Amino acid sequence: MAKQKAEAAVRATVRGSVQGVGFRYEARRRALDLGVLGWVRNEGDGTVRVHAEGPRQALDSLLEFLHRGPSGAAVTAVEVEEVKPEGHEQFGIRGVAAGVFVVQEHAATAHHWDLRLEVGGVMRSWAVPKGPSMDPAVKRIAIEVEDHDRSHNEFEGRTDGGGVIVWDRGPYEQGGRVAWPEALERGHAVFVLHGEKLRGGFALQRTRRGEKPQWLLIKRKDEAAEPGSDVAAARPESVLSGQSLGELLGGG
Ligand code: MN
Repeated sequence: MAKQKAEAAVRATVRGSVQGVGFRYEARRRALDLGVLGWVRNEGDGTVRVHAEGPRQALDSLLEFLHRGPSGAAVTAVEVEEVKPEGHEQFGIRGVAAGVFVVQEHAATAHHWDLRLEVGGVMRSWAVPKGPSMDPAVKRIAIEVEDHDRSHNEFEGRTDGGGVIVWDRGPYEQGGRVAWPEALERGHAVFVLHGEKLRGGFALQRTRRGEKPQWLLIKRKDEAAEPGSDVAAARPESVLSGQSLGELLGGG
């Protein structure tokens, strides 16, 4: 799909007393009113960071707002840097959980890990034969499988042909330039996991459509990445019970 690139883009860092005052929500409301796309997020150093792209005049109006902030904010400085438009199709608030994720290690006819992401009230699911990796150089095949109910997230125990442990879980953020679930429909979805074992950015890239759509699960290069690691092998324990799948199956 050919999309028109935005006219201009800026990155802004807003300093002062700017967190905990609804800054991100008001910035998004203004951005959407102005037809500006991109994202806003709270940084660990107390600043608010904004990526904004669109018509030059609309960017200027948004920057004017950033210098004031919402009532309750005390902006001391706004640093603005001109950057390249990235092709955003939404104005997202980054760093806010979209729901939960869970990874269940599953001994069945074929041993695999089920990655499940909460999207629209259900758990979208992928079976990952070799399990997730924290190494950005590793691409893991992930077969899209049927949605699961959220009530299944806690399930751990023996099943008819094997068993299941809750291998990892936590909140996750929906990232990327395209809003979800559209991103999944288009076959490229970026997200940030906050699990006990899996942390930081990941991407799911669809490589084959059809009855059993095939995807690749890839760790993104970020500060959480662990090149050369094999977390599936190194951390076999359940985050619920501490037992490995082998212990579950072998133990009485
Ligand atoms: Mn399964």
